[in-house]
Amino acid sequence: MNKRQIFEIFGSDASDKIEDLLVYSYDASNEKKGKALMVVWPTSVLQIRKLILLANRSHFDIVPRGAGTGLAGAVIPDNSVVLDLSKMNRILKFDKDSATVTVEPGVILNDLNKALSKFGLFFPVIPSSYKSCTIGGMISTDAIGNRAIKYGRCSDWIKMMEIVDGTGKQIPIKDVKKFSGTEGTVGIVVKAELKLAPLIDYTTMDYHEFDNISDMIDSMLTILENPSLIALEYVDKLSSQIAELDQHKYMLFAEYSDDSGEINDKKQIEELWTFRESFGQILSSKGYVISEDPKIPLDKLKSFLIWLNNHNIPSFGHIGVGLIHPRFKSNSQDLIKSMFEYVIELGGEISGEHGIGISKKEYVSNELKQKILSLKRIYDPKDMLNRGKII
Ligand SMILES: Cc1cc2nc3c(=O)[nH]c(=O)nc-3n(C[C@H](O)[C@H](O)[C@H](O)COP(=O)(O)OP(=O)(O)OC[C@H]3O[C@@H](n4cnc5c(N)ncnc54)[C@H](O)[C@@H]3O)c2cc1C
Repeated sequence: MNKRQIFEIFGSDASDKIEDLLVYSYDASNEKKGKALMVVWPTSVLQIRKLILLANRSHFDIVPRGAGTGLAGAVIPDNSVVLDLSKMNRILKFDKDSATVTVEPGVILNDLNKALSKFGLFFPVIPSSYKSCTIGGMISTDAIGNRAIKYGRCSDWIKMMEIVDGTGKQIPIKDVKKFSGTEGTVGIVVKAELKLAPLIDYTTMDYHEFDNISDMIDSMLTILENPSLIALEYVDKLSSQIAELDQHKYMLFAEYSDDSGEINDKKQIEELWTFRESFGQILSSKGYVISEDPKIPLDKLKSFLIWLNNHNIPSFGHIGVGLIHPRFKSNSQDLIKSMFEYVIELGGEISGEHGIGISKKEYVSNELKQKILSLKRIYDPKDMLNRGKII
């Protein structure tokens, strides 16, 4: 790799300073630090294309990066040049009538939604990392949020996008589903047209407590029948013990877009969400620092939660769509492996939202592997983009 040629493309928006290389050798996962050779902050598509052409000649790996909030090690470099897209953060076009907005990939979700709120619109897929995560990262992991029951996942809201592929070509993509969730291994998202939803200004909520898993699952199935349901979350009993709550219970939090819930006070609803969302931080502070994200078929959830309970694994998550966040202490690799084996036995997915990255490569489904391989053959035949991730 010729650093001088990279500095020629990016000028002062490139660095090989030791402190930058160190910062960019991690992401939010618990994976070991990698090795960045350089970091670049493009401000134009042309710079990205030039970098890729250079990589094709000199055979170095490029790791596209949004905010680095990913939890699967997908932006950890392995002797790579890290392409940080955070400076490409402009809102390019907004059309209120068609409720669409076109953005650069580095736009932070929270900034976008703040800008849209005065028009009564928002991008409705909101991961808990919304204050930092970027649209490019969300598309590339096909992120989901806690209102997935109503709004689905990120790819449901992308009208079209443009990528720069591993050969340096800029290509418009209409079949967004084919590319979303490819974690930067096939193309770099440089522009996206997003569909928007009307802001919801009125919701109601119910909060339920249970002594056992069966009662919680029965209640969940009834709640799911309500068409106004927009979110259904849970926290398990073990988490309530670890959090040292007065009562140790299984908890369900149901939010509706009409009067179905008994709680309609905005402040109380906010407090309930804050309480539910506090469990990630609480469990981390008690040593449960590893967060997994299996997706389990709804009719197998009971068996899965019993399995977690029998293995003393605390969990919480978006239960209404079968997405569970079991939490582990460091050095739990054997236990995590057993859990993934059980997830596969139940017909579940090993990752419902965080992606595969390097953390879950061992368990990647043949279907996803073949999808990435066939896209790589067309769009990144020399394997220039995020080498060694997913496959
Ligand atoms: C506290 C916390 C809560 C979280 N909650 C959720 C949640 O509720 N739902 C959820 O889905 N996830 C969640 N996550 C995971 C993470 O925030 C999401 O995966 C998010 O979409 C990643 O965005 P990012 O900008 O940080 O991307 P990064 O972590 O920087 O990158 C993620 C992947 O996208 C690729 N990528 C980034 N930008 C581009 C681009 N422009 N073109 C091509 N590839 C690109 C990277 O190569 C990598 O493979 C959470 C993480 C944390 C730390």
